[in-house]
Amino acid sequence: MRFGTLAVHAGQDPDPHSGAVNIPVHFSSTFAQDGLGGLRQGYEYSRTGNPSRRALEATLAALEGAAHGLAFSSGQAASTAALSLLAPGDQLITLPDIYGGSYRLFHRVFEKYGIQTTAAQHSSAEAVAQALSPDTAMVWVESPSNPLLNILDIAETAERLVGFRNRRGERPLLVVDNTFASPALQNPLALGADIVAHSGTKYLGGHSDVVAGALLTQRKDIWEKLKFYQNAAGGVPSPMDCYLLQRGIRTLPLRMKQHQANAFAVAEFLRASPKVEAVFFPGFADHPGHAIALRQMRGFPGMVSFRLAGGLAETKRFFERLRLILPAESLGGVESLACHPATMTHAAIPPSERQRVGITENLVRLSLGIEDHEDLAEDLQQALL
Ligand SMILES: *Cc1c(COP(=O)(O)O)cnc(C)c1O
Repeated sequence: MRFGTLAVHAGQDPDPHSGAVNIPVHFSSTFAQDGLGGLRQGYEYSRTGNPSRRALEATLAALEGAAHGLAFSSGQAASTAALSLLAPGDQLITLPDIYGGSYRLFHRVFEKYGIQTTAAQHSSAEAVAQALSPDTAMVWVESPSNPLLNILDIAETAERLVGFRNRRGERPLLVVDNTFASPALQNPLALGADIVAHSGTKYLGGHSDVVAGALLTQRKDIWEKLKFYQNAAGGVPSPMDCYLLQRGIRTLPLRMKQHQANAFAVAEFLRASPKVEAVFFPGFADHPGHAIALRQMRGFPGMVSFRLAGGLAETKRFFERLRLILPAESLGGVESLACHPATMTHAAIPPSERQRVGITENLVRLSLGIEDHEDLAEDLQQALL
């Protein structure tokens, strides 16, 4: 089946008991057993497994071309589960600009358990390779990155890890946070990633009404460890969250077409505006990552970042003047959002570090929704005046 068909059908067979075409929301926390140890359908307790969640996990795995999928209560719960594969003394290599919450999780939570995080000098496979050390056990990347929309060659990054062995004689695991592209546009497992991480809160859910996350992998050994952690630590999504995410996924391919069209239209508008200093959009032919993006993606998500001409005062005024585009954190929903990374999504990164990687006070990140692009451009026009 092709992607649009998978989004509607994979893991979503009609309910065998009622014929319902939507996956029933199984609110039960526990499941009756036939005597001791006699599980009827393989379910015993909903933290361990729930039919609504299992259906969602099958859908997510199909969309990423994965053998195994696991759903979590948030993107961060999924990331925490992936990081649980590390041990004290291990080093994690990441990129200079990543989601601020990931930065916080690496540095403020996992560092105190003896896991050291080092950022490569640039978002490039070469820079990642240069940062490897005998302690490197995991490489964590985003492409497109948050918020500067840098593109990393995922296949080349995976290739550069092939011949490398750390002090345990193991090849570091490559984790790709695929939240920005979504499986509609990019499948990192096919490019050599070991684990794909998602915030389902964004494009997968698509309606800004659910917080959820996921991990996908081809490797049974990795899946078993992650599944053990999922049950042991318990960061699982509720059955209702599973339903909402599953419902959102059904229209992901359709929504993504409109997000993409709006991103192109708004990026062009911004580039022509004298009130804008720079536009970051990998769909532009002169974006440094454009050629790589064409190789590893099937299009571009509705994300466009730009530097406004001016400083913090002008940027504040712009946010106050917006009428249609909502100033808000998050992305990937049907409604357009404007985010100020320096004070919102990336506030957890120390100011000097933010400045160094280019998250300046005049940087604005737009998540273009599925509205008519003329209305979005008109709103930006009046807010930039
Ligand atoms: C939002 C986000 C996360 C975290 O996901 P939550 O669902 O908010 O926990 C991780 N990575 C990226 C790229 C994100 O945008």
